[in-house]
Amino acid sequence: MATITLLGTAPGYPAPHRNHSSFLLDTGEQKILVDAGESCSRTLIELGIEPVELDTIIITHGHSDHTSGLAMLIQSCWIVGRERPLPIFLPKELIQPLTIWLDASYIGPSFIPFKLQFQAWEDSHQVNIAGINVRVAPTTHLDSLVKKFGNHRFHPFSLSFDSPSFEFVASGDIGAPEDLLPQLEKGTDLLICELAHFPPESLFRFLQNYRITRLVLTHGSAEVLAKVDSVVAEARAMLPKTEIIFAEDKLKVQLAARKSR
Ligand SMILES: [Zn+2]
Repeated sequence: MATITLLGTAPGYPAPHRNHSSFLLDTGEQKILVDAGESCSRTLIELGIEPVELDTIIITHGHSDHTSGLAMLIQSCWIVGRERPLPIFLPKELIQPLTIWLDASYIGPSFIPFKLQFQAWEDSHQVNIAGINVRVAPTTHLDSLVKKFGNHRFHPFSLSFDSPSFEFVASGDIGAPEDLLPQLEKGTDLLICELAHFPPESLFRFLQNYRITRLVLTHGSAEVLAKVDSVVAEARAMLPKTEIIFAEDKLKVQLAARKSR
């Protein structure tokens, strides 16, 4: 059965006992890492998974709490002699600076024996990764930067995953709950949602309009982390039909086999 393991559940500021944003989708045949906040490599090892086992990496946006573990992941693959290509799906604006960063770390494309297959979300908002249809939708998470600097390089995305055996939605970082509208039109078995950039109550009110079977809350702001119990109680009161889970690092979620479409 496919599983998701939350490798990091901290907000954008370090929090005790929480790594930065990252989760692993393991279908049994494919290991897909979504975001690479530090210390995703170490957490994978603690779970008995070698970074070299990853088949694909997906990055939702460029903030360092979602990307800072990428260089160590690639160094880990290099040290054990990875040869097969590593596909990395990401916003286009990250490709060049990440390549420069990896080069500065002596693990850029010219240093390592495997190919980094960067694939920009802007080139295709929908990709098939080993039978899983992954679709991105833009979010307003970086709108304050767009207003200040123009929108040529601020492209954050939410994600939906759809396969014959499971489906789920992951918020990435959003600016407001309404950003999730394009991903939730048909409802979802599982929504993994951040809680760092809007009042939790506004998310729960928005989700009342959709079929959400399970809601995993992650990436809570410092204010949210200071009152987890009351946030969960509020979610349960406002979404009585939804199973509510507040994520800790290493939380493992089984993906329910889908019945029929
Ligand atoms: Zn973030």
